[in-house]
Amino acid sequence: MTAIECARDGLHISVSQIRTYLRCPRSYLLRYVLGVAPAFKPVPFAFGTSFHAALARFYVAVKEDGAPPPLQLVTEAFRDAWQRELDADVRLQAEDDEPADTGALVDKGAEMLAVFHDQAVKSLDGVKVEAVEQPFTIPLFDPDTGLEMEEKLVGALDLVLKKGRRRQVIEHKTAAQRYGEDQIRWDIQPTGYKLAARAMGLGEVKVTYQIVTKAKCPVLQIVDLDRNEEDEDEFQRVAVNVMRGVDGGAFPPARSWACRSCPYSHACRPPRPRPGTAG
Ligand code: SF4
Repeated sequence: MTAIECARDGLHISVSQIRTYLRCPRSYLLRYVLGVAPAFKPVPFAFGTSFHAALARFYVAVKEDGAPPPLQLVTEAFRDAWQRELDADVRLQAEDDEPADTGALVDKGAEMLAVFHDQAVKSLDGVKVEAVEQPFTIPLFDPDTGLEMEEKLVGALDLVLKKGRRRQVIEHKTAAQRYGEDQIRWDIQPTGYKLAARAMGLGEVKVTYQIVTKAKCPVLQIVDLDRNEEDEDEFQRVAVNVMRGVDGGAFPPARSWACRSCPYSHACRPPRPRPGTAG
């Protein structure tokens, strides 16, 4: 198996990998092909992972017990997950505008969970939780030739709900502020999820983001994301192009403001050959 194949965990690619390549092909190379250890984990990632764990705990309880769990149980799940992040081998690093104070972050997480819990409990009427963290592996097709690609699209749906005859796929997010119009319109993740749900036999699902903001007064922003056939073609075309770029060894650095907080910047520039050692 080549390094490129390893990078895709065999012959797989995820929405997250596609996004990484689109943001900066060099970071894709360092992370997925060369397996470079990150110098740190950005605090927002660790916070988001912990928040996801808490929300998964909420919906697993609804699925198994038929009733929402108390806020305290969800908050404990968040604290436990955050502690695992603190105990992990990779150190956490705050961004400029993020509070580095762990206590403040835990308090903020608890505050955000209270907002989420209050509204989520009210929205459960007549809703069945079908799956939490549902993994998928689906085929990808080149929209220009119609041919199935060797590579599969992999990922996991945060939450699958059923109300009446229709299913809804929910993706959870935490964000510094509410999502803007362009962010909602052009995000490729909902398109990938629509394709995945259809291929999994879930039918034509509604994809919804539940975004909890970290603002001084957190809010739960609920956004339904419409995607059409053109979006689906474009998603598959983008995936195919990314895979061709990876197979062709196209990994240029995309320098931007993001370099400031890049966990792979220490390995971004290969060492220059010393005079007399080239060739
Ligand atoms: S430092 Fe910048 S160019 Fe280099 S991998 Fe990170 S984001 Fe890409």
